[in-house]
Amino acid sequence: MAEDKGKRKGAVHVYTGNGKGKTTAAVGLALRAVGHGFKVFMLQFMKGSKNYGEIIAAEKYLPDFTIVQSGLETFVSKEDPAQVDIDLALRGLEIAKEVIRENKYDMVILDEINVALDYKLIPLGEVVEMIKSRPPEMELVLTGRDAPKEIMELGDVVSDVTLVNHPFYHGVEAREGIEF
Ligand code: ATP
Ligand code: MG
Repeated sequence: MAEDKGKRKGAVHVYTGNGKGKTTAAVGLALRAVGHGFKVFMLQFMKGSKNYGEIIAAEKYLPDFTIVQSGLETFVSKEDPAQVDIDLALRGLEIAKEVIRENKYDMVILDEINVALDYKLIPLGEVVEMIKSRPPEMELVLTGRDAPKEIMELGDVVSDVTLVNHPFYHGVEAREGIEF
């Protein structure tokens, strides 16, 4: 537990935009927070692979950093999402609500929740309500491209990562330790 829990005011962070660096910003925050004794919970929407460096590192070295996924390894169709993708996203939202309500973590990261909202897998109204009703001292971090404006408006820290260049556009595939 963070030493000054109860005294500090937590911020809502929104990391969005098309450039690389949203999830890694959240993971970087988690590392920094854990270093100061915070307990951190990360819920990953729309992801199901365990082969992410942050999952391997958290399990191996960071007992105060818990990562849970509620998604499949396969891509979700924006136009016609499969029922299983909707069900898993809704389950993720229920987990997130419970974790926030229980208030056992100093920082809660909802990775790719902006995408789940943009794809209409989960209802915006419920997410807005969840953000507004969080414990005031909790740091809440929301990542993913195309964040709805209602989410941007709730952010105390809002960073829109601009895409200028990415190896993907030069034929380089996702690299271990860098993209996952
Ligand atoms: P990272 O996890 O590296 O911080 P991100 O969270 O900003 O990236 P996402 O929108 O979640 O990026 O993209 C998912 C995956 O696509 C990640 O592996 C990421 O590195 C990679 N990626 C990010 N930006 C781009 C881009 N402009 N073009 C192609 N791939 C990208
Ligand atoms: Mg991401």
